[in-house]
Amino acid sequence: MTDADVDLSIGQYLEDGTAILRVFSDSPRLEAELLMGLVLRKPRSYLHAWPEQLLSPEQAELYERLLRRRFAGEPIAYMTGIREFWSMPLKVTPAVLIPRPETELLVEKALLRLPEDEDQRVLDLGTGSGAVSLAIARERPRTQVIGVDISLDALEVARGNARLQKIDNVEFRESDWFDAVRGEKFHVVVGNPPYVAEDDPHLLRGDAQFEPRLALDAGAGGMDSFRAILERAHNYIVRQGWLLLEHGPTQHLPLRRLLEAQHYHDITVHKDAAGHDRVTECRFVE
Ligand code: GLN
Repeated sequence: MTDADVDLSIGQYLEDGTAILRVFSDSPRLEAELLMGLVLRKPRSYLHAWPEQLLSPEQAELYERLLRRRFAGEPIAYMTGIREFWSMPLKVTPAVLIPRPETELLVEKALLRLPEDEDQRVLDLGTGSGAVSLAIARERPRTQVIGVDISLDALEVARGNARLQKIDNVEFRESDWFDAVRGEKFHVVVGNPPYVAEDDPHLLRGDAQFEPRLALDAGAGGMDSFRAILERAHNYIVRQGWLLLEHGPTQHLPLRRLLEAQHYHDITVHKDAAGHDRVTECRFVE
């Protein structure tokens, strides 16, 4: 007979893990399963098929270590190295922001501005893991997408994701905003730039505390990157082309004022699934 305290089954460990993670996670069971999947190097379906299988002492120890790391706040996506975006499993590392579900709204709205049967050019500002660029490129094979980022480590992740997804109508360039696309014009410019205020406590909590500050922090009021982008964006958009930016729920009005002071018309704000103002789009008119 094995000692029940030492040799627990997959199912029992999952229950324990779920109970521990419930304290701070919205999806404790899923997270416990993802961590168990890492330990066993198996998909979640395996855990459902073999709940009675016992863990070896080494596996149990590893599982407990992972649970402790998660309990200390480490993002599950950095532990598994994967986050799904637009139904694509993408590689993520601590060099990139973990793609958020609400950013799919930015993709959705950009696609509405990109006819399927035209060869258009898209620029994605601050591409990070490449999530937005890759989703657009996959949905619009005739479009040429350029994703730029100032972080070389992020670009390496983005290029890896393009290879993983076998998407070749996308190119990633190292660039401080528009530096690496001088002289080029785009039909659609999109961006999910940093937009969190530097003193926002959100930066010290949850996944954000482990994410690159460079991808989140946009100075006092969180408007620095919008200002930097809008100083130059008009040089890179074709006449009647579109600019779409993701932003925080309270930034729509200040952003709108910046856009109105420039050459932009048809300014529309779109709400995300949680009802927050999240994406503003507008048209460039000289
Ligand atoms: N929505 C992200 C967050 O709340 C912020 C993303 C960004 O700054 N681009 O953590």
